[in-house]
Amino acid sequence: SPGGNVKVVVRVRGFLPREIERDADCLISMNPYTQETTLHAPEVDTSKPRSQARGKVYEDKTFTFDRSFWSHNESDEHYADQEEVYNCLGEEFLDHNFEGYHTCIFAYGQTGSGKSYTMMGTPDRPGLIPRTCEDLFQRIEEAQSVDTTYHVRVSYFEVYNEHVRDLLVPRTDPPHYLKIRESPTDGPYVKDLTDVPVRSFADIMKLMRKGDMSRTVASTKMNDTSSRSHAVFTIVLKQIHHDLATDETTERTARIRLVDLAGSERAKATEATGQRLREGSNINKSLTTLGRVIAALADPKQHRPGGRRVKEVVPYRDSILTWLLKDSLGGNSKTAMIACVAPSDYDETLSTLRYADQAKRIRTRAVVNQDHVS
Ligand code: ADP
Ligand code: MG
Repeated sequence: SPGGNVKVVVRVRGFLPREIERDADCLISMNPYTQETTLHAPEVDTSKPRSQARGKVYEDKTFTFDRSFWSHNESDEHYADQEEVYNCLGEEFLDHNFEGYHTCIFAYGQTGSGKSYTMMGTPDRPGLIPRTCEDLFQRIEEAQSVDTTYHVRVSYFEVYNEHVRDLLVPRTDPPHYLKIRESPTDGPYVKDLTDVPVRSFADIMKLMRKGDMSRTVASTKMNDTSSRSHAVFTIVLKQIHHDLATDETTERTARIRLVDLAGSERAKATEATGQRLREGSNINKSLTTLGRVIAALADPKQHRPGGRRVKEVVPYRDSILTWLLKDSLGGNSKTAMIACVAPSDYDETLSTLRYADQAKRIRTRAVVNQDHVS
């Protein structure tokens, strides 16, 4: 069927040195058979005055996802490493791309929860992006045939403070921001974005690192930009098939979007202040809007107090990120969300799991993008 739900998985990381130091408890458990994730109530610190708890009630909460990846301790028999995450999600999505579907995988979660580790990984432990690229070129090489040619192009941009910046061009001072345009056929796109043809895995890795450096350089200069910016890595795979018997040429185009979102705590920070922050507010606008878009897509029929059904308008255009990801969120795409959680942060994790739980209800309408060219 053309309609499908957004695939939602959750992944919990191991303790970081700072958590070991404070002797943190792991508040997460996962059932590998039911794919349930449970967030356990933290033990109440009796040494603190009651007033500090601000009347908060902690309780165990259980959610079911398409997958619950246990990446907390390697000694566990169900430990999910980078390869496992790729095999369970990346591979299937790449299958869809070869069939001609657009896909999008985005990582959501608070800063430090493992989004970049999951998407990009480290040189020793590559994440979804390098694994997808490697598998992509391996499949192309294996498929070498006289009647099909493959063309791969890559782009990489970040959305920071409601500005789009090309990560494949050298940084300039002042920064050069790109504009968004909307095409009647392909929807919203970034105008003048660098879009590089690539012929090998090595080519694509070079670009990926270049873009990542551009992001990282900023983070040391400007107080952790990477936790505030959304990075969107896009691969376009075009397969041109020439049927020798009928002399017909068909073209299949698939867009692979891999998104490392800004830290989710930023969205909450804006909500908490309840005021329209001046300059800083833009930093969070894309994330707060993403929350509203997901909520609107998850529960499309809103009831007015009078009982009249109204069709809610999904507020895609209220932020740069949601406008650009419009198709991935509610349109022509097979989409997955990876909710990344830290092991011992009840409040942030509950908010992430609720967000993820809501995303499960979103349905997209993916179609095979195929054209006869002659
Ligand atoms: P985020 O991008 O969400 O801010 P990171 O991906 O940078 O978080 O992860 C924070 C830290 O935790 C990094 O040092 C990263 O290497 C480590 N980390 C995250 N997830 C894992 C994991 N599954 N296994 C091992 N280390 C991880
Ligand atoms: Mg990160």
